[in-house]
Amino acid sequence: MQNKLILENLTVEELKDFFENNGEKSFRALQYFRAIHKNRILNPIQMTNFSNNLRQKLYHYNDIINCSIIKRIDSKLDNTKKYLIELSDGNIVETVFMEYKTHTSICLSTQIGCKMGCKFCASTKKSFIRNIEPYEMCAQIYLVENDLNLKINNIVLMGIGEPLDNYDNVVRFIDLITNKEGQDMSIRNITLSTCGLVDKIIKLADDDIGINITISLHNPFDDERSKLMPIGNKYSIEKILDACDYYFNKTKRRIGFEYTVIEDVNDSKKYMDKLVNLLRNRNCLLNLITLNPIEEFNQKSPDRYKMTEFMNYMNKNNVNTTIRRKQGVDIDGACGQLRINNMIKRGVK
Ligand code: SAH
Repeated sequence: MQNKLILENLTVEELKDFFENNGEKSFRALQYFRAIHKNRILNPIQMTNFSNNLRQKLYHYNDIINCSIIKRIDSKLDNTKKYLIELSDGNIVETVFMEYKTHTSICLSTQIGCKMGCKFCASTKKSFIRNIEPYEMCAQIYLVENDLNLKINNIVLMGIGEPLDNYDNVVRFIDLITNKEGQDMSIRNITLSTCGLVDKIIKLADDDIGINITISLHNPFDDERSKLMPIGNKYSIEKILDACDYYFNKTKRRIGFEYTVIEDVNDSKKYMDKLVNLLRNRNCLLNLITLNPIEEFNQKSPDRYKMTEFMNYMNKNNVNTTIRRKQGVDIDGACGQLRINNMIKRGVK
């Protein structure tokens, strides 16, 4: 964990203290905040409204300049682009840009590695290294925006890591990115995906953050789910659903559920019926994901026919269900795989 003060982590109010403590006028705080978060001028040396002296000082406390794109892979099938972004300490994160008919979206990583240990997920292999800081989440957006020369309208916290296991940094990031003086991202356009950390879902509701949440369910039976997702040993599905109800009642945001369909593991009628039973009376959206096979998890993904059948059955039984459009399947599939493959190439074990 870095102890260095990093200005891109600070709110305008906190920046005011910094500038005042350094003998500068407090209005400089807003100038700096706008330069970084609105105009995406990441290098203080290029901030020509500051004196040379001040620019040097700001440079010392700036770390976003040390984050850089080291690789971009463009899908040939759609406009999806996967980025590998190197952080100032040499760690690498994976960020995915997606383009839809009506908007652009970015999938951000929130941790380097992950502690959750879900069996089918590449992010969790090679274990957990550290949390990603707020400015490093901002960097993923600003670097991609600068690279593509466009504005991103939508954020999903669905990349590497469990965002609610990095609660304070994620909440601070949301505060920074929604600030009207900066990116001014609408809170409604931010979605956080979680494997179901119940206490943090409740905290998110109590803290009145107002983002959308989506729960990685993947199996409607506790015993089977826990085998796939060890977090199930700590929080039962019932507890997760109670937390979702609490979140919905407080925020009125419709809850999402993700269900990765794995052939012959969780795709029979027994699973569909149990899911109907759990979700039927909830204001929610079920998103079916086709398993993206990884080497360590020896299972198959269902075909399109099976996915459609699953979706139709759920919709017929009053559970609003969609199939997640596969994006960039030709460019290293599931989240975390690109990073791992790159680490292996670099000789990291
Ligand atoms: N930790 C968070 C967010 C990261 S994973 C969470 O668990 O929700 C984002 C989504 O991708 C989750 O629903 C996750 O279960 C799913 N996922 C991970 N690996 C996958 C794979 N190989 N195939 C399909 N979906 C996968």
